Amino acid sequence: MIEVLRELSEAVGVSGEEGEVRALILKHIREHVDDVQLDALGNVIALKRGTGAAKLRVMAAAHMDEVGMMVMGFDSDGMIRFSAVGGLDARILPGVRVWVGPDKIPGVIAWTPIHLNKDQDTVPIDRLRIDIGAANRDAAQKAVSRGDRIAFASPFEELGPTVRGKAFDDRAGCASLIRLVQGERFPFDLYAVFTVQEEVGLRGARAAAGRIQPDVAFVLETTACHDLPQDPDEPDQTTITRLGNGPAITVADHSMVSDPRLVRHLVRAGEAAGIPHQFRSPQHAGGTDAGAIHRTGVGVPSVVVATPCRYIHGPYAIMSVADWENQAALLRAAWETLDERVLARA
Ligand SMILES: [Zn+2]
Repeated sequence: MIEVLRELSEAVGVSGEEGEVRALILKHIREHVDDVQLDALGNVIALKRGTGAAKLRVMAAAHMDEVGMMVMGFDSDGMIRFSAVGGLDARILPGVRVWVGPDKIPGVIAWTPIHLNKDQDTVPIDRLRIDIGAANRDAAQKAVSRGDRIAFASPFEELGPTVRGKAFDDRAGCASLIRLVQGERFPFDLYAVFTVQEEVGLRGARAAAGRIQPDVAFVLETTACHDLPQDPDEPDQTTITRLGNGPAITVADHSMVSDPRLVRHLVRAGEAAGIPHQFRSPQHAGGTDAGAIHRTGVGVPSVVVATPCRYIHGPYAIMSVADWENQAALLRAAWETLDERVLARA
């Protein structure tokens, strides 16, 4: 499965242009599902029929899109003006290599050299430019167009027990969902959904959940991992997650409160199967597709299981292979014993 993760990580799918990722996913799931549809927004909705033991419609979602940038215009000297697509920290952009447009034209994000810039500690994104080596505006416009997406040009690397690359958010979740779909059937009908436009406002998931009208939803995500040295004045400061401690179950985030019955079920299934897990610290902001899914239709009990990821939304994220493999393992264990009784209220 590492090779699937590599392929997905190196593919480009900045929000609204998920086609390259979608094609890869279709290639990997087609033979393992009973039906697959593309909806009007570009979500992939695959149905894997269950054994019939449980009468539930279960939606599992992972988003195909990644944060990146978009071409906004051209300077007379051939430099490209751009804006962010999704949550990007402009401070980490200078010096980073990028691919511009569908032809993946190589470029670098330029910034004032340190000799001229000693007193500047902020990085306004509108002062950054992308240099593709074009001699002037005409040459730049021949190579790329306004609206073209820009992605980090980051090769995937295996580093012992971890992997490094771009867009693990949420290609890691996509790869886990592919793995689950490729395995044995579950007791219930599984709607595996690969969504578009999560990073710009959970847009694809809303439409997909409205169409499926699931009884319950699981969102496969990545989440921030803040295990850098902590502030010495605040030794008890809570981290969000820790790399290597297993997939993180979200209890609550900025966009939703996970259904406690589903959280309990995941914990029990994980303990019974000996699969490590941790809780994502609830006080931190952020949202996922579950924030949109749980509010659709008559309401959908939802929960998020996320692989911890260092330097998320940056050009190089680092993730533990074991945490990532256990994301799928935890969900498989939970799904094998998921039925109507899990949702019964006392
Ligand atoms: Zn995400």
